[in-house]
Amino acid sequence: MSDCLFCKIVAGEIPAETLYRDDLVMAIPDVNPQAPIHLLVMPVRHAGNVAELAEGEKDATIAAVFSTAALLGSRHAPGGFRLVANTGKDGGQTVDHFHVHVLGGRQMDWPPG
Ligand code: 5GP
Ligand code: ZN
Repeated sequence: MSDCLFCKIVAGEIPAETLYRDDLVMAIPDVNPQAPIHLLVMPVRHAGNVAELAEGEKDATIAAVFSTAALLGSRHAPGGFRLVANTGKDGGQTVDHFHVHVLGGRQMDWPPG
């Protein structure tokens, strides 16, 4: 999608440090970190959010995004981490390209805001 921020990052049109990339997923640091470790894992192909992907034709994308997020969490935050997929307006999603936040490096609070 030409007007999608994360599609532009995937395409290299907006710079980001690539922490991991394969055919399905890309991982980058969040530009506005909310924890000492704050990474974003997103599909290379545009999808608005995880619910949209789940309703569509089944493919390996959701599993690839979450398993990559878990592997990066284990590597970067061995003490534990939180995976978050804000979805839709009430979910607090601000960028409409599916992504999982990997948050760690500090004690996480519950309930979230
Ligand atoms: P959401 O609110 O949709 O769950 O998460 C969007 C995330 O993208 C936010 O944490 C925000 O800081 C991050 N973000 C927004 N613009 C950019 C950008 O240009 N580069 C990077 N690396 N992260 C971004
Ligand atoms: Zn996109």
